[in-house]
Amino acid sequence: MITDKCKLVNNNDERGNFVVATNEIKVGELLFPEESFASIPLEFHMNKDYCFLCCKQSEVEQVQQPSQQPQQTNNKSIQCKFGCNMWFCSEICSNDMTHQLECSFINKLIESSIKNECDVSTCLLALRIMIRNKIESDKYQETVGKLSNQLEKFIEINKSFIEKYDINFQQFINQLQQENSDPSLLAIFNKDEFLQIISSIYINSFSGLSNDFNRKPISNGYFYKPALLNHSCEPNIFFTIKDKNLEMRACKKIEKDEEIVDSYVDLLLPTIERQKILYNSKNFLCKCSRCSDSTEDERYLSSIYCFHCNDGVEFISPEIYFNKDTKKLQENWKCSNTSNTCEFNKKKQNKRNKDPELVLILAGINEFKEFINSEQLLFNDVNLSTADQEMPIIENILKRLLKFERDVLSRLNLNHQCWLIYHIKLSKTFEKLSLVYNNFDYLVQSIQHYKELTRHVESIFKSSTSGELVDCYYHLGRINEKYLLSLIKQRNQFNQLKLQNQNKQDLDIDKLNSDIKNLLKFINQCYTNSYNHSVLVYGNNHLKSIQLNEMILKSNLKSTTTN
Ligand SMILES: [Zn+2]
Ligand SMILES: [Zn+2]
Ligand SMILES: [Zn+2]
Ligand SMILES: [Zn+2]
Repeated sequence: MITDKCKLVNNNDERGNFVVATNEIKVGELLFPEESFASIPLEFHMNKDYCFLCCKQSEVEQVQQPSQQPQQTNNKSIQCKFGCNMWFCSEICSNDMTHQLECSFINKLIESSIKNECDVSTCLLALRIMIRNKIESDKYQETVGKLSNQLEKFIEINKSFIEKYDINFQQFINQLQQENSDPSLLAIFNKDEFLQIISSIYINSFSGLSNDFNRKPISNGYFYKPALLNHSCEPNIFFTIKDKNLEMRACKKIEKDEEIVDSYVDLLLPTIERQKILYNSKNFLCKCSRCSDSTEDERYLSSIYCFHCNDGVEFISPEIYFNKDTKKLQENWKCSNTSNTCEFNKKKQNKRNKDPELVLILAGINEFKEFINSEQLLFNDVNLSTADQEMPIIENILKRLLKFERDVLSRLNLNHQCWLIYHIKLSKTFEKLSLVYNNFDYLVQSIQHYKELTRHVESIFKSSTSGELVDCYYHLGRINEKYLLSLIKQRNQFNQLKLQNQNKQDLDIDKLNSDIKNLLKFINQCYTNSYNHSVLVYGNNHLKSIQLNEMILKSNLKSTTTN
């Protein structure tokens, strides 16, 4: 029994251990909360934003200023007094025994990890886990110590990766020895254990996301109970991490005795990419129904319009399989046409995979992805001071993207991953352009891409809920609020001109009024949708749920005052 709602089933066959529901669980129901055995923020160097020990987001207090001056904020974080210069949320965290033990070597470890190209926060987390094991060995034995680390398999797949951590650890320990560090500290560290924990962190840890609506990973936590759940790309739970606490809620109704499954990967990725991540970092391949079906259970994230059927209803999709000889994942392409009339399907499999038309489209997809990854400007936040220099470059990028839309994307199912990437980038880019040029048309285009993005994400999650949907509906509401403001501005101008009897515009004020009314309803609906998903996946006390509730109230208020 893990909690009163689920239990661990020990199984010796291929399936291994799994967790099942002991009773029916409703959508949004909390399965269990758990505090991490150890956590670490991902960016901690000189960073006041998150507590170095518990990962809590720093509290910011608004400093009262005379009304004309810009608002100032005061960060309440405190800096370590013992020499490492890290920032903490409180005296309790900065004086914690774990930190007292690690404080003297942190900067040495950071230095050697950077030199050896190892992830600094993972190395620090591993040593922190070893220290915590010494302080609370009983808890370690009963919980995270039981997790499998699969180091052998990890080495088999990622040999050069683990070698770097091996070298890093040795150099770090040599340095501590040369500097005559505390022998009791040196006694805690052991290379084999370090490598096992590194492997275990990659397989078992959970990342916490920022509290804003952009899903940025900010911390990594080492938990026990959540790590017992198996993976599926059709998960029935959703987890969130606040500070060092993890909460798991059902994102679908779960029947009694049904297995409880979690997703270890980004569900917006197509099967081949999800499987690559699972294989390289978690040492297995997923066999869920979404992974076993070439259309991903009608999600079509990799599907191409069949160029032989040419009727706009048949799609060529890849079946993913593991080639035992090359040890690589490969794709077998097939058309959805079942009537035996498709010329593509009449070919043998290896001829199909090499079809020149297919090869051309796949090359176009690769070129598109490479282009998107290389154009960092598409992703930057707006910087109005450099906008003048940036904008001509961005306009060129847009032209290039339109060409991609015509030549490559138009050949892909509307749910293809490339379209998703396209809408993500263009929604933000047009939003940026509308701000810089104060241009209505850019705003309209941005809204269109946010709408498509939301539709797309919804089609991937189908009947379940997720944090991604919270964010999508929030952004859709937010961008439409900008649109609303510009409509209200138009109406005010109209009314002013009317007062001065100078109204020569042929503006249809009735239409404008009804547009405003409909838009208000739409914005209210977006925030309501976002809130409803948020309550289910985060609970109603979460910062996001509270903020969204306020936005619903505000947009309700507006709809009554503008009538
Ligand atoms: Zn703290
Ligand atoms: Zn310190
Ligand atoms: Zn799967
Ligand atoms: Zn076909």
